[in-house]
Amino acid sequence: MHLPVLPSAAPKPAADTPWIGPNGRAMERLELHLTYTCPERCSFCSEEHRMKAYRGYPVTWGRVATVLRLHASRGVRGVHLTGGEPTIHPQFIETLVLAKKLGMRTSVGTIGTRLADEAFARQALPHLDEALFSLHGPSAAVHDRMAGRDGSFARVVLALENSLRLKPGFGAYVNTVVTRHNVDALADTVALADQLGAKLIVISNTTPEGAGLDRYDELAVPLDELARVLPLAAERAAAAIVRFFGVPMCLLGAHSMLSNDLHWDPRVTVEWQSAPGKVVFDGIYSWAPDRKRVHTLACERCTRKGVCMGVFDRYAELYPTEALVPFTESGAGDDA
Ligand code: SF4
Repeated sequence: MHLPVLPSAAPKPAADTPWIGPNGRAMERLELHLTYTCPERCSFCSEEHRMKAYRGYPVTWGRVATVLRLHASRGVRGVHLTGGEPTIHPQFIETLVLAKKLGMRTSVGTIGTRLADEAFARQALPHLDEALFSLHGPSAAVHDRMAGRDGSFARVVLALENSLRLKPGFGAYVNTVVTRHNVDALADTVALADQLGAKLIVISNTTPEGAGLDRYDELAVPLDELARVLPLAAERAAAAIVRFFGVPMCLLGAHSMLSNDLHWDPRVTVEWQSAPGKVVFDGIYSWAPDRKRVHTLACERCTRKGVCMGVFDRYAELYPTEALVPFTESGAGDDA
């Protein structure tokens, strides 16, 4: 049985007033969850619990339009559409069109489901500035196993190729999630994304949320293995910019400045949330990339503790963290 859907009880600030957070930073990025369904079954999916809980609550066009208008009026300059698989929302194109009318930069996180269809891509791309394609291996054998669906690799590669062919200069980015099942192929995945023309490649550590939490023991890559593999993977990108998400900076060797902790913008995430006796479609405000991350004892003497968000909390609960090597004032140990 579904809980009633009620408007949020939280008081809303007046429209046209920018959201200002710590250090005077303005909130300019909206992450909007358009759907709670997805054709893929990724083994590490951080959204799996929310998809199960809210699948019966469609995100109506009325809600989408209201959220976009409110946030545009408060100074939000870009929207990233996410899910589930956002391109399957029945008003996906209309969402892009409205966001552009409101002056927003538009972005989507997708595993290529509908952008692989050229006719659909031709409709969407004029209103879309960027897409973050999920590519989890350098071959169908690796990616399809990660995504839990045959044909997934071919679709996401085609979607990326369609985007660059139909809209030269398009912001085609790749997100690749690292687990024990694909870590040995990571460098080749980065090389493939670079060859396909991705301008940015985000290498994401398994996040202990959703299925990623349920299967953390099976999926999480040991820190010492990350320290061995990640710097080598970064070097396989000839032209693309590489970023690391959810990774302690001290594991990145000479590439520590590629940590996403240093290149992260505050964001408001609007999605279904449970509240006592009801569900609400409301915003969560994030001013730092510290979700699920903690510092360890070693971090206490690290000169980068102020900018590095540390290790995932679940990892620190389950496993030793000796692989974390603090940066020091003198530079000793830095990037060693
Ligand atoms: S020691 Fe801790 S704070 Fe320093 S880089 Fe490593 S994880 Fe980050």
